Parts: sequence; C-alpha cells; structure tokens
Amino acid sequence: MTLIIGALTLTLTVLIGTFLGDLGSAAATRARAQLAADAASLAAVAEGAPYGDGEALLVARTYAEANGAELIECNCVAGSEAVQVEVDVDGVRASARAVLDPSLFGPAALGVTGGLDPRVADAVETLVRAGGGAIRVVSGWRSPAQQSVLWSAALERYGSPEAADDWVAPPGSSMHERGLAVDLGGDLELAARLVAELGLPLYRPLGNEPWHFELVGSRG
Ligand SMILES: [Zn+2]
Repeated sequence: MTLIIGALTLTLTVLIGTFLGDLGSAAATRARAQLAADAASLAAVAEGAPYGDGEALLVARTYAEANGAELIECNCVAGSEAVQVEVDVDGVRASARAVLDPSLFGPAALGVTGGLDPRVADAVETLVRAGGGAIRVVSGWRSPAQQSVLWSAALERYGSPEAADDWVAPPGSSMHERGLAVDLGGDLELAARLVAELGLPLYRPLGNEPWHFELVGSRG
C-alpha cells in the first residue's frame, strides 16, 4: 500500500510540474492546492485498508506537505472508509474527499495480529473470520516508537496533553503497546454483536472510539 500511494504521490507531483508553466499563478496555486488535497485524502483513506497502519491524520499531513500544501483539517477517523481533507497553499484552500472500497483489498490479513497478547489474537482472528470480510484489523500491536509518533501528531493537532489524551494514549500507557487492544475497521456494530454472540473476551471501553476493542479485564 505504501508503495502504491508513494508512486501516486510521485505522479501527482510530476503532473504539477508539467502544467505550472502554462497557467497564471492564481490558477496554478488553485491546481496545486487541489492536487495536494487529492493526494492527502487518498493517502489517508488508504490507512483504513487492511494493509494500512491506521494513521490517517499523520499520512494526510505528510502527503499534503510533500505536495507543497499545509493540512488545515482532516476528518479522518481510524478505521473509517471515507476521509475528507482541507489544505492551504499560499492562502488558497482546497478540499477533497476519498472513499475506500475495502472489498478491493481482499480479506483482512490474519498476520496483523503479531505482537498481540495470545488471548486477544485468538479472539480477533475468530471475530475477523466470523465477520466474513466485513470486519478487519486496522491497528493492532504498536511499538513505543509508533505510539510516540501518534502522540506527537495528536499533541500538534489538539494543542495540549489534556486534549490529546482524549484521542491518543501517551507513550507507555497505550493498551496497544501492551498487546491488549486492537482498532477494528468495517462494520463495527456487527463486530460488537459477534463479540457478544460468540462470547469473545473483548469489550469497547472508550465511548469516543467505537473502533477500539480491548481484552476484558485489561484495566484491572
Ligand atoms: Zn485503539
């Protein structure tokens, strides 16, 4: 996925280069902003695919900046199949929305449960199988380094540790780092129903993160 999107960004950058010379500067800035918005939204929505890392905000910013724009807004939620971004180039705003069809990416890879507590891995593999392609793992185990990157991005976005803490756990305190949590994508209501029906040891402790499933009893 990274390779595909990397190639896409390169293509978009080359396109900008070829027609900048033919347009007036206002039109060129508008075109550049739109292309940056397109690239950022595509890269971000791909994070919700089975092979993404679930770091939509981070890649939206990276790809906006790689195309010469500043990311203003990203309506990008882990596990979501649609992303909307707004970018700015020299005061010119552009927005883009990208929608993913997860069925094109094949079944959720069971290999993404590496690093998880075996109880969580077993439950998630059972759940993904029972979902018949409608449920996938967006983010499982994270290294402390990966959690630090997410935390830095959240600090920048939300402005203070108190606000960032509502969305991302500070490094060292995430259940993902302990292998006790997964973020799921796809049909989350089906996932919750199957967890109950199959008696799997998972629950959703965070009201503002319906995609975050944790091992029952993980919080003491
Ligand atoms: Zn989570």
